[in-house]
Amino acid sequence: MSKKFYYETHEMDDLKCPVCGGDHVHITDIVCWTRPTGEDGDVKIVWVTGKGQVTEAKTIDIGVTNPSSRRQAFSLEGNCENSGCHFMLHFGQHKGVTNMSYTLNYVEEN
Ligand SMILES: [Zn+2]
Repeated sequence: MSKKFYYETHEMDDLKCPVCGGDHVHITDIVCWTRPTGEDGDVKIVWVTGKGQVTEAKTIDIGVTNPSSRRQAFSLEGNCENSGCHFMLHFGQHKGVTNMSYTLNYVEEN
């Protein structure tokens, strides 16, 4: 499958830490909750780490669930240099709009 998009890029504000408002924020991992069969379908999770490791699964134990109860979503895991905050920013679809929220993370490395 291939798509060809034509975009114009526009600058937006820098991402601020959702916890402390600091401006030295780093994105580490990306988690996508997809629904290959459409709305309310089974979820396929794709987790991409900052080191390029890709994990695909039906469930994944990362301490958060799909931010969208019926559709697709993605989350950006990150941290900030200002206060050592560790968080996930969530973008989930719900009733025709895309909501943004965040979760504070307390990481246990295995
Ligand atoms: Zn912070």
